[in-house]
Amino acid sequence: MRVLVVGAGIGGLGAAIALTQHGYDVDVVEVKPEFSVYGVGINQPANSLRALRSLGVLDRCLAVGYQFDQCDFYGADGEHLVNIPYGFSGEDVPCNNALSRLDLHRILLERAEDVGIKVRYHTSVADLADRGDEVEVELTDGRHETYDLVVAFDGIKSWTRRKIFGDQFDPVHSGFGVLRITLPRPAEVTGMRVYQALGVKLGFCPLSEESMYMFVVTPQPSNVVHDPATLGDLLRSQLEPFGDLPGRVRDSISGPAGIVYSPISDVMLPLPWFSGRVGVLGDAAHACAPHLTQGAGMALEDGVVLAEMLAETLTGGGPIEQILRQFGERRFPRAKLVQDVSHQILANEMAINADNYAASVEAMRTHLPDQSRAVDRLLDAPA
Ligand SMILES: Cc1cc2nc3c(=O)[nH]c(=O)nc-3n(C[C@H](O)[C@H](O)[C@H](O)COP(=O)(O)OP(=O)(O)OC[C@H]3O[C@@H](n4cnc5c(N)ncnc54)[C@H](O)[C@@H]3O)c2cc1C
Repeated sequence: MRVLVVGAGIGGLGAAIALTQHGYDVDVVEVKPEFSVYGVGINQPANSLRALRSLGVLDRCLAVGYQFDQCDFYGADGEHLVNIPYGFSGEDVPCNNALSRLDLHRILLERAEDVGIKVRYHTSVADLADRGDEVEVELTDGRHETYDLVVAFDGIKSWTRRKIFGDQFDPVHSGFGVLRITLPRPAEVTGMRVYQALGVKLGFCPLSEESMYMFVVTPQPSNVVHDPATLGDLLRSQLEPFGDLPGRVRDSISGPAGIVYSPISDVMLPLPWFSGRVGVLGDAAHACAPHLTQGAGMALEDGVVLAEMLAETLTGGGPIEQILRQFGERRFPRAKLVQDVSHQILANEMAINADNYAASVEAMRTHLPDQSRAVDRLLDAPA
């Protein structure tokens, strides 16, 4: 069976490795001219680590990352509000492993090469036609190929989603955006730390013994384009309300180097995610706010589960259309849960104001540990 994977991001590389491990003949096309990834961090919770384990890269990810099992919330001046132990079992894999995105991509890419996958950069799909039992694909490098299946992990602005399902599922901006930067790790940052000010949420996440990444969420217009040269000033001004550790970190930032801005937007493609033999997965189908640090995990799980279901059912002779439908029915509720909870956390945090601050903190202390544990336990179940 020949499969085309569109996009060599985390989801596309994961799917390509999983499909190859099950014996499929996989091509990967990537529109970027060469390997390039933002130098910021990414957290991988236990369910994502299980997907990475099935791709054969868990040990390498753990070796370069930082494992932790606690999240602490603080007020703007460093007063401790609530401790949240993660609810993953942590028996077979750590609760969390955060690492540099560059490292995660390099590890996936090296594993892809080890199993014989070659990523064709500077290449995308110019056109495709589903003929029922195969898909004819015209690539932008002029080649014409025929595949049994096309799976697109081409990200939140997915060309394939628009081509197959139209523009009604384009990303919906949340009204918020996030600045991120990798910085030296202060000794006390040994787990996720979230600091809440009015209209600004700041987080520190350890990435290694030496480094951590910082993220700062604020209200932002949907189409804002920040001049990269101004990002240092913007970040420092957003951090103005903070004292204590965040204040010291703010004062150590001198310029815009390494700061990345991203809007926070949702995509929720309703089922079916496949039209015939062409499917749209990962962020292209279910991009979400980053508040559960689950986006990449959902994309990785998509690839791993798809490969497993195809392998199990095709060896039993099942029709491919039925497998693809069952795949969507299995994955949709999990991706929707992640999206809804992430969006709700974002909305709740950004709704904190001077009038409701005390009540919000009280509600956090009363409800957040149990709520967080309940969501983690759902995600601890098989993907
Ligand atoms: C601020 C922020 C913080 C986040 N933090 C975390 C976190 O801590 N943990 C976590 O798990 N997730 C996190 N995420 C989410 C995570 O980054 C995404 O869910 C994940 O990258 C999705 O993977 P993907 O492969 O589906 O898409 P992408 O990573 O977007 O990859 C898509 C790939 O397709 C390529 N492409 C696009 N169009 C085409 C085309 N037409 N042809 C060929 N190639 C194409 C792109 O160049 C890209 O390489 C965060 C997201 C944001 C915005």
